[in-house]
Amino acid sequence: MKNNLTGKIALITGASRGIGDAIIIALGKQGATVIGTATTKKGVENIDNKLKKLNIKGSSVILDVKEESQIVTVTKNIIDNYGKIDILVNNAGIVRDNLLMRMSFDEWDDVINTNLSSVYKMSKAVLRSMMKQRSGRIISISSVIGATGNAGQTNYAATKAGIIGFTKSLAREVGARGITVNAVAPGFIETDMTEKLPSEYKKELTGQIPLNKIGSVDDIANAVLFLASDSACYITAQTIHVNGGLYAS
Ligand code: NAP
Repeated sequence: MKNNLTGKIALITGASRGIGDAIIIALGKQGATVIGTATTKKGVENIDNKLKKLNIKGSSVILDVKEESQIVTVTKNIIDNYGKIDILVNNAGIVRDNLLMRMSFDEWDDVINTNLSSVYKMSKAVLRSMMKQRSGRIISISSVIGATGNAGQTNYAATKAGIIGFTKSLAREVGARGITVNAVAPGFIETDMTEKLPSEYKKELTGQIPLNKIGSVDDIANAVLFLASDSACYITAQTIHVNGGLYAS
């Protein structure tokens, strides 16, 4: 089966809840050994419990993706323990919305560091090992907002558009080494991140989605699974939009 990931080692950031939680399960169910990260003890416990319950091979680790020294240690430990990292999913992300006129530098910087600089740091940390084995998959979670923009989200949109440019460029650098680099750009997906949106806004938004519903975390996990699998071996430098038709690229 082309989706089978048996023997693959996958590292997923922000796997404690939401989209990352669905991704770790999707890859794990296809036989990958999955390592999920969270920022808290409770988060890693959630991951461990889920893996145990579903009989999925893998482990969890505390990681703040803003911290380069933690990234270096975590990726080195995984390579020491498991021998390699075949699949990196850059999923961790935050929003700190505000109109630019009111946006503090802290709000700007926090989102840039968490959503975009982390993708640079994580990808760099796994690349040497992928280059050596002449294969690898780097998949980063962008957003429809990176393509359309959104008032109140200049910081977030800049990071998500940045991921698309990063993906296209890195794909050109490492393609000859058998490494593919792609992005998935979700539309509006039911998670903690969108839970806070006012229900009126959600209703209005749903009306703009041709498939007439907000997406599920599994919709995104399925796209990531496809990109991680052999079925996608000739796909690189691309962004797959999974948004119910809200935006057509
Ligand atoms: P979520 O439910 O809020 O989960 C965010 C995840 O990121 C959590 O696992 C969180 O870990 C982790 N995280 C946050 N800051 C971190 C840091 N500094 N270091 C490491 N991990 C950190 O969000 P989500 O909706 O699943 O979003 C996942 C990704 O999809 C994000 O990149 C987001 O921008 C993108 N996305 C989401 C939507 C949507 O509609 N939901 C749409 C487009 C794109 P803790 O649990 O430890 O806090």
